[in-house]
Amino acid sequence: MTIRVLILGGTTEARQLAERLSADKRFDVTVSLAGRTKNPVPHAAKVRIGGFGGAIGLTTYLAESGTDLVVDATHPFAAEISRNAQRASAASGTKLIAIRRPGWEPVKGDRWRRHADVQSAISVIGEKRQNVFVTLGRQELAPLLTAPQHRYVVRSVDPVEPPLDLPDADYVLARGPFDVDAETALMLHHSINVVITKNSGGAASYAKLEAARQLGISVEMIDRPEFAGDAAQTVDATLSMIDHWLDSEANLDV
Ligand code: NAP
Repeated sequence: MTIRVLILGGTTEARQLAERLSADKRFDVTVSLAGRTKNPVPHAAKVRIGGFGGAIGLTTYLAESGTDLVVDATHPFAAEISRNAQRASAASGTKLIAIRRPGWEPVKGDRWRRHADVQSAISVIGEKRQNVFVTLGRQELAPLLTAPQHRYVVRSVDPVEPPLDLPDADYVLARGPFDVDAETALMLHHSINVVITKNSGGAASYAKLEAARQLGISVEMIDRPEFAGDAAQTVDATLSMIDHWLDSEANLDV
């Protein structure tokens, strides 16, 4: 029997999970991407792109595609699709497993302040002009407009279009993983003294925090939205949860 799996993706973990499950003949794997990046990284599975139309649309998709298992492997800040996955799973009776990488924790030498949202982070930087390195999603940059006194260096995978209506903003296009030496060089080159970032967790984008620590640069850290429910922290733990679920399903069939 083939087990149809829908992986809600957009993360490294989703890609790795798709690769591991696709290598196992029991699974027929589809990865779903929102379509935010122009050239998504290739996946070792079928890929569908675009929203489902809310929880109701996702419920319909699960029924029509005969999906047996949904894995929510979306980014920790993608709260809406995670909520929709929980609702659609409950409405359709489709098994849901979630994977959330752990958040970063400050270590000795870090100069972090934590914030519930980007606006709060921008507000505390103050009136005096600062050189601010911004690593946020393109959709999250609007609060920068409320503090045009700063100089911004904004890094993103795809261009910020249209550019922000700010007197002094530079744009850096790059896709992780990033290393500490390059992050240090970038911060020195732009005389950065504040970093604004989200607590995404994971290794690929941690280097900026290490570079900031070494340079004594302060970090305005946006905390994650709340996630209701259990989640595996790693791809291996997710695979174990899937095995455990399959074992319990097999026992029910006896
Ligand atoms: P979001 O706010 O939670 O979702 C907004 C809407 O986008 C959802 O209601 C859904 O539309 C659609 N959507 C989101 N993820 C989808 C997916 N994997 N497949 C199909 N539709 C999806 O999400 P977001 O924060 O904009 O993130 C979008 C995607 O980028 C996610 O896949 C996430 O894993 C990835 N990502 C996000 C961040 C971040 O910081 N937010 C960082 C890296 C990667 P419908 O309601 O029409 O179904």
